[in-house]
Amino acid sequence: MQKTKIIATLGPACEDVKTIHKMLLSGLSVFRINSSHTQNITHIKNTVKSIRQEAQKLDKPISVIMDLGGPKIRVSLPKNNQSITIIKNTKYRLGFKKYEIPLNTKINVLKFKKNATIKIDDGKLNFKVLKIANNHIVAQSLNGGRITNNKGVNFPNLKLQLPAVTNQDKTNVQLAVDLGVDWIAQSFVRQPTNIYPIQRILLKNKTNIPIIAKIETSDAIKNLDSILMKYDGILIARGDLGVEMELSSIPKLQKQIINQCIYHKKPCIVATQMLESMIKSDTPTRAEVNDVANAIYDGVDAIMLSAETAIGHYPVEAVEMMSNISANIEADLDASNFNRNIIDSLSTSITNNYLAICHAAYSIAKDLDLQIIAVLTDSGKTAIQLAQFRPNATIVAFTPHQKTCNLLSIIWGVVPVYTKQPSNINGLYSLVNKILIKKNLIQSGKFFLITSGILKIKNSTNMLQIYQSK
Ligand code: PEP
Repeated sequence: MQKTKIIATLGPACEDVKTIHKMLLSGLSVFRINSSHTQNITHIKNTVKSIRQEAQKLDKPISVIMDLGGPKIRVSLPKNNQSITIIKNTKYRLGFKKYEIPLNTKINVLKFKKNATIKIDDGKLNFKVLKIANNHIVAQSLNGGRITNNKGVNFPNLKLQLPAVTNQDKTNVQLAVDLGVDWIAQSFVRQPTNIYPIQRILLKNKTNIPIIAKIETSDAIKNLDSILMKYDGILIARGDLGVEMELSSIPKLQKQIINQCIYHKKPCIVATQMLESMIKSDTPTRAEVNDVANAIYDGVDAIMLSAETAIGHYPVEAVEMMSNISANIEADLDASNFNRNIIDSLSTSITNNYLAICHAAYSIAKDLDLQIIAVLTDSGKTAIQLAQFRPNATIVAFTPHQKTCNLLSIIWGVVPVYTKQPSNINGLYSLVNKILIKKNLIQSGKFFLITSGILKIKNSTNMLQIYQSK
């Protein structure tokens, strides 16, 4: 059973029904809508509908993430000219709309300093600021290349005081609600309070969609602990992070962020350029295979494909490659993997029923070498927290809500199962036993654990039992 989940970014290369179907069969659990590149609402609605239909045909729970573009400055080219060629050592003017390098946002040019660096397309093109003029900047290109429309523009170390959530983001949060997506990812989170504008829209709609903070700025790194307390998960957005921070610090930051997530019991995603060469080639580089494997060894919940599936030539092969790497590396995982001192320190911060039961389930499964921990869950919270202990046993999460089933598709080591809630403890055991056997998750005679909330104590997980499968 694959423990690390795989996310594919939607785009023209993978949105047809056949490719969606093949990717699901190849081990994909999550689709990501990158709203920075997709604006056609009817098209998004149809794609999400196809995803849900294909997942249903395969009886496979699937998560959909709405990734909000955030206050990102981008190159905004006119419709009749969708690319610019940049020649090394040439002067260019950058500014809102009408300059040689037109931007999508008005920027406060007074904040700029001479000789500062400007990076376009995740740092593929670099410029040095020569002059600050009225409403625009004059900069010299340090290398050459092509810029296509919508590419990101970064001004490292510059605080431009842009709003945390743009008007376009607000429209997309409403779209996320209308589409019934399972997660929202917020770009350029700098501090914990950045979550409020999104929460207000969700509250107005009387709905609750968990929100992931994308970590891609130095402020987010500084405020990571407080961000983790407010948000439901983290996405390590290595594209922008590698431009905003020293590129050589990314491996260290990645490990620190994953460890912090495990400590705070929040899911974590590693993203960007994981199998980048598979955009054009059917085989990744050895270094890329290592990068994916290292993220799995670090204990990340999910690994993400970006351009590989959105615009690449081999979207299905990229998913297959990630599945094969997960299968290989997960077969090598044991109690000495992941940062065990962080996981063990979780036991010192147990403050509620959920966590106490999760920790006990993790310990018993470890001591008795049990293969299955069955969790009955409404909101998914118990399964998410149990997963953060990274047990060797598979967590099978039984829930009467399709929404919870979908939400859990992103969580490490969890197999979500949609089923009705039994009314008593005997019914509970026989239902779980029947489904585990039917799904080939356990053989008869083997022991397994069940944890659930019973005796009508609301919002509480309070039962843990060992059963023998029949
Ligand atoms: C990133 O920067 O790595 C990222 C995932 O965000 P986006 O795709 O929105 O640039």
